[in-house]
Amino acid sequence: MSITSSKTPGAAPKIGLVSLGCPKALVDSERILTTLRAEGYSFSRDYQGSDIVIVNTCGFLDSAKAESLEAIGEALGENGRVIVTGCLGVEEKLIRDTHPSVLAITGPHQYEAVVEAVHAHLPPVPNRFVDLVPDAGLKLTPKHYAYLKISEGCNNRCSFCIIPQIRGDLASRPIASVLYEAERLVKQGVKEIMVISQDTSAYGLDIRYAASKFHGRDVEARFATLAEEMGKLGVWTRLHYVYPYPHVDAVIPLMAEGKVLPYLDIPFQHAAPNVLKAMKRPANHDKTLERIKAWRQIAPDLAIRSNFIVGFPGETEADFQLLLDWLDEAEIDRIGCFEYEPVTGAPANTLEGAVPAEVKAERYGRLMERAQAISTRVLAKKVGRTIDVLVDDVEPEDNRAIARSQWDAPEIDGNVVIDDADGIKPGDMVRVTVVDSDEYDLYAVPA
Ligand code: SF4
Repeated sequence: MSITSSKTPGAAPKIGLVSLGCPKALVDSERILTTLRAEGYSFSRDYQGSDIVIVNTCGFLDSAKAESLEAIGEALGENGRVIVTGCLGVEEKLIRDTHPSVLAITGPHQYEAVVEAVHAHLPPVPNRFVDLVPDAGLKLTPKHYAYLKISEGCNNRCSFCIIPQIRGDLASRPIASVLYEAERLVKQGVKEIMVISQDTSAYGLDIRYAASKFHGRDVEARFATLAEEMGKLGVWTRLHYVYPYPHVDAVIPLMAEGKVLPYLDIPFQHAAPNVLKAMKRPANHDKTLERIKAWRQIAPDLAIRSNFIVGFPGETEADFQLLLDWLDEAEIDRIGCFEYEPVTGAPANTLEGAVPAEVKAERYGRLMERAQAISTRVLAKKVGRTIDVLVDDVEPEDNRAIARSQWDAPEIDGNVVIDDADGIKPGDMVRVTVVDSDEYDLYAVPA
């Protein structure tokens, strides 16, 4: 066992690293060090000089496990602030039972998770000479909105999807790391944060909702807690890829109180029970229509966005008609639709009852027509209201600005077109009065 070191002048936070095990583990250690070094951390060759110690463990043989547990104990005894990673990390219970005071545990090849754990317990000190990237990381989105990924992978097994095969099971980020990232984004001037994952409402399930320290407080990695904490940041929080599990009910009052946007992106995919069953969709047994109605009693402004698949194997005309009626009754505000296509490796490929291409195309057209009618009806009710909108773009030649309301996510939903937009800039939050509407967009003037 050895403490890896690298001398760096200055007051950067110092990390000690104990690397055990095989060459693969060593490569992992190097990668962790490289990432942390690029972020301005420095390293210490002894326990006492380290602000935190990472122990990269081996768990291949029982003897290696014992050695790893011993190394964790030594680091705890000498330093006290220890993050465990590597192969033994998959045996979290064993580690926690033996050494309850370790700060965080991540598994093999989880570089990002280790680095996040370091951020959560030992935030990097900004240094304008070494920081090549801004605090919030490099973003491909405009300055005023950003996506915040809270987990990787998915525990569901929808029959048309191969994401779990590619990305693996749900792996949630520690909530402190998510919230610190959200805070950094806000400091950078971001005004709207889109929370994304494969299954946002399942957040924390895999880590048994483990609490982590956020500004000295223990915060649990739960969907509703995340929404509540995000609501304190003073920016728009938009929740994407939420499945209607019962615990989602807890975020609806936050929407009514204006803490998170009254917007849910729920990929329903269908409404007919036998199609949902063939799709193996999560939460397909819940009485969704009743739930949506109850949500709207609490948060009448709630907008629901959803995607649907038409022409799934076995979908009958009656199933499809049920879907159309369901859309009307649920009044799904924003609707996206795909014609079913087999994906290589997806279990649905073996299902019988393929729907002919021309039937799929015809159903697609009918669904989009229905979606347009619903959207037109919903948007017409907004005329006359005064609302806050976030400006994405300006068209000075027409004295117009293109903005979005709380009901519109960027790229996928509609716009609010503002006339008489003198002095309005991208990124501004503007109060406007809605004067007109069409199928997808609202038209407004400054209030
Ligand atoms: S479609 Fe289903 S299996 Fe695929 S990522 Fe979404 S919830 Fe998971």
